[in-house]
Amino acid sequence: MERKVLVEVSARHAHLSPADLETLFGKGHQLTVKKMLSQPGQFACEEKVTVVGPKKEMAGISILGPVRKDTQIELSLTDARAIGITAPIRESGDIKGSASCTIIGPVGQIVVSEGLIIAKRHVHLTPATAEAWGLKDKQVVTVKVGTPERGLIFDDVVIRVRADFADAMHIDTDEGNAAALSGVVYGFIL
Ligand SMILES: [Zn+2]
Repeated sequence: MERKVLVEVSARHAHLSPADLETLFGKGHQLTVKKMLSQPGQFACEEKVTVVGPKKEMAGISILGPVRKDTQIELSLTDARAIGITAPIRESGDIKGSASCTIIGPVGQIVVSEGLIIAKRHVHLTPATAEAWGLKDKQVVTVKVGTPERGLIFDDVVIRVRADFADAMHIDTDEGNAAALSGVVYGFIL
């Protein structure tokens, strides 16, 4: 059976805790939806922050809503290197002992002792799709991405299964550029 999944590129972004959102944007501030994302309930916001590392600062980093329990910043390896930070490749939510940085918003700034990660590439699947494709949560697979000029096979792709997911593979901008990905592209789980 063909296990064909939409491939989406996640650009650098931040998730904020309710307390950090207030520190950066002001008391009682609510996130403004700019665009709904493929994962149900997730959205890109109008609000942006600046992330600061020892070498440089990076402005215009989008916030993805809604707020979460813990603040988490996801950069590409190229981004992290540019601002002088060495961060681990992790699954979203697994931030213990990850990199530190400063985040600046329009009304305040915070220093997070951990929370900056390079997102591990992954495939979101609904339980129905996972079952049909014979895949399990946390399974590691190989995915062939069929771009015309820079087709690429990605190893170490984690399957994530949850009822509130939509089927989609997520890679970062370094990975997307490595495959010259643009427009609507599909990956094939091998
Ligand atoms: Zn994802």
